[in-house]
Amino acid sequence: EVTMPRPDRPRIMCVANQKGGVGKTTTTVNLAVALALHGNRVLVVDLDPQGNASTGLNVPHHAGISDVYDCLIDNVPLAEVAQQVEGIPNLWCVPATIDLAGAEIELVSVVARESRLARAIAGHPEPFDYVFIDCPPSLGLLTVNALVAAREVLIPIQCEYYALEGLNQLINNINLVRQHLNPNLDVSTIILTMYDRRTRLADAVEQDVRNHFGDKVLQTVIPRNVRVSEAPSYGQSVMTYDPGSRGATSYFEAALEIAERGVDKVAGHNA
Ligand code: ADP
Ligand code: MG
Repeated sequence: EVTMPRPDRPRIMCVANQKGGVGKTTTTVNLAVALALHGNRVLVVDLDPQGNASTGLNVPHHAGISDVYDCLIDNVPLAEVAQQVEGIPNLWCVPATIDLAGAEIELVSVVARESRLARAIAGHPEPFDYVFIDCPPSLGLLTVNALVAAREVLIPIQCEYYALEGLNQLINNINLVRQHLNPNLDVSTIILTMYDRRTRLADAVEQDVRNHFGDKVLQTVIPRNVRVSEAPSYGQSVMTYDPGSRGATSYFEAALEIAERGVDKVAGHNA
């Protein structure tokens, strides 16, 4: 049994990349489960109206369920909305329902619109070791709320052509949020996802990303693995669906790396 160090302070991580399909939700769900299974108190905030993280954790999120929209727009405390994830002690999820689709527009006219999520998380009575915020594939007010609430940004990058394209835009937004709203925000972690070792392209992308982001990039690379993509249809993470699969073992290694680096290892080396 491997011991995973617990952080001294809560680590709030915004999982962002405005590209869809790069592995944000998969990474959120599997890291959260891996950390929770090893003794950490973990919260997943599903901030994507598609509700994929809620689905992946098998948390009810049909219309009428209290969700993150209620926290953002109606000031409902996080504790009233967070659901315990079945079968995984220490793991909670604030789900997203279809209501959240309207939030991007409704937030525009709300007081302190950029810091609604930060306030909701700060108001939670019992601290978590980790909070993962699964962002939608856009750079709108929902993602800005996540960037303001977080201390760290975790960027999943899919090992394919154009992987780095568009990242400048994300980094610019992060810099703006840092300047105006959240000076401590740090891109702490880059994770390479869906790596296909049969292709030379994946290798080239990996080198590119490592040259660009240095030691922010986890040593562990997540391979493309069919068990990872099957797991959500069983309402499970790959960590429980097939713990021996390469997908599960690599997400476990990635979680361990994140836990061992701590929050401050790469602080000050902003992208
Ligand atoms: P995002 O949240 O960035 O839109 P997802 O996490 O939903 O991306 O992943 C996009 C698709 O790729 C999903 O169908 C998911 O199951 C699949 N996928 C993600 N990671 C892997 C992997 N390592 N191996 C195989 N399929 C994966
Ligand atoms: Mg997603």
